[in-house]
Amino acid sequence: MEYKTDLDKLRHSCSHVMAQAVQELWPDVKVTIGPAIENGFYYDFDRKEPFADEDLAKIEKAMRRIIERKPKFSQYPMPRQEAIDLFKKRNELYKVELIEGLPDKEVSFFKTGEEWFDLCKGPHLDNAGQIKAFKLLSVAGSYWRGDERKPMLQRIYGTAFFSQKELDDYLKMLKEAEKRDHRKLGPQLELFDFYHETAGAGLVFYHPAGAMLRKTIEDYVREQHLKHEYQMVITPHILKGKLWEISGHAEHYKQNMYYFDVDQEPFAVKPMNCPGHILIYKSKLRSYNDLPIRYFELGSVYRREKAGVLHGLLRVRGFTQDDAHIFCSQDQIESEVCQVIMFALEVMKDFGFQVVGKDIRFELSTRPDDYIGSPEQWEIATSALESSLKHMKLPYEINEGDGAFYGPKIDVKLKDALGREWQCATIQCDFSLPQRFELGYINNQGKEERPIMIHRAILGSIERFIGMLIEHYGGAFPVWLAPTQAVIIPIRADHDEYAIRVKDDLQKAGVRVIIDSRNESLGKRIREGTVKKVPYLLVVGDKEAQESKVAVRKYGAGDQGAQGLKIFINQIQDEIVSRKS
Ligand SMILES: [Zn+2]
Ligand SMILES: [Zn+2]
Repeated sequence: MEYKTDLDKLRHSCSHVMAQAVQELWPDVKVTIGPAIENGFYYDFDRKEPFADEDLAKIEKAMRRIIERKPKFSQYPMPRQEAIDLFKKRNELYKVELIEGLPDKEVSFFKTGEEWFDLCKGPHLDNAGQIKAFKLLSVAGSYWRGDERKPMLQRIYGTAFFSQKELDDYLKMLKEAEKRDHRKLGPQLELFDFYHETAGAGLVFYHPAGAMLRKTIEDYVREQHLKHEYQMVITPHILKGKLWEISGHAEHYKQNMYYFDVDQEPFAVKPMNCPGHILIYKSKLRSYNDLPIRYFELGSVYRREKAGVLHGLLRVRGFTQDDAHIFCSQDQIESEVCQVIMFALEVMKDFGFQVVGKDIRFELSTRPDDYIGSPEQWEIATSALESSLKHMKLPYEINEGDGAFYGPKIDVKLKDALGREWQCATIQCDFSLPQRFELGYINNQGKEERPIMIHRAILGSIERFIGMLIEHYGGAFPVWLAPTQAVIIPIRADHDEYAIRVKDDLQKAGVRVIIDSRNESLGKRIREGTVKKVPYLLVVGDKEAQESKVAVRKYGAGDQGAQGLKIFINQIQDEIVSRKS
């Protein structure tokens, strides 16, 4: 772990102070590791009794006492064996294991004044008095070294900032995020649910409203791909194990795949759609005139994710990608990548994310340690991706070593309404699969050449994308996405006839509409429509029926007064077609 920013230093220093406070309060608690993370820090402890919420307040108080004393953080070395003996004597066996895993003769320590010390490379703040604003947030279970077979630990999460104002803003954002949590809103809006116990963890069940939302997204995605000159293909969900050997997945990805036997032969459920698209490419002799070939599939894949990392729609075991593979010549890479980026920006705009550099950020990931292909191929692919970004004058950051095992990639990160980042589109260059599957095309000299493959998804996982949309919009979708776009509420039973007429007209105009003529009070029906975050509630009574009007209540904006039915239909149609958000 290397801490580059002052904020990381602050947060890591805060984790030391927290661990010290915990051991002051409960001397037999064992400490393990405590890094700074994206939005704060944590420390993993081994303690028999679980930490309770009241304990967090106690720890915070003890931390304040330490901070008031302003102890200095200072680094010092210790010979490896001496450090092992020291921790053994204190019965801190996790630390012993950590040091035993280090190759160095000497290990680095950091002490907090003369009060506490930890095995640590730092860097740290100068002294604990510089910690001005911090908060402990939650306790969660974790495994030693992330391994489910190892002892269960307790992880305390916290965060720290240089000013109280920044901390307050962050805590406010967390509160808002909790309200928007898709795991809560999903079932509440009857979009989806999980049946972990009865059906298996990480498998999504879309209820009618969620299935309608997904259909809307899928229809849109299909339409956009055809418009951008992709060809639709559909490939099987299970494929022979042999195919996964050729693709390299058996060697590099097996632990994430579901294998089983068919007629004594190994098969696997697809974790990716690439081999299927490759077989279709391979079915014919291809010429340079045919390239680029762009195959698109809404491909459902299954991946064996650890139970501990499953998280709502964001991390699941079965999901669908808007997956495409572009087969092209080497000199087409850059223009293809540019087109994909442009396509992605258009799509993101339709979903309500617009400003490059503000809502959208690009990351270029380079060669990881575990890779296939030659370093030269990686070089060519990486520079093609980079020049596409440069060509389009898009701001990007480089993620050293974070590429897929088969090639470098560009990731598109979206910022939601709360400023949180989400991974969506990804564009990956691949020299390796065309080689493994011996793909070819005849070039303009009549010679056979290898095409390059670009894997790309724009939404990424539809499940994850829906999770993000729910949180971005807090469940109040723009009209074009809303599963139910309008609810007609007849005031009394004798207004039902007019309500049906309104419904017919709206349906003819392509609006998803229902009538709520239940024998409930008007107030209750309006409240329920509001709780379900339906964009428009249309109340109809005597006056509306006589004048061919609807009394419009818009979600988030309240009563809009009576409008002519025709005018309302034009307006809602306009909102749908323009995908207004
Ligand atoms: Zn440390
Ligand atoms: Zn692929």
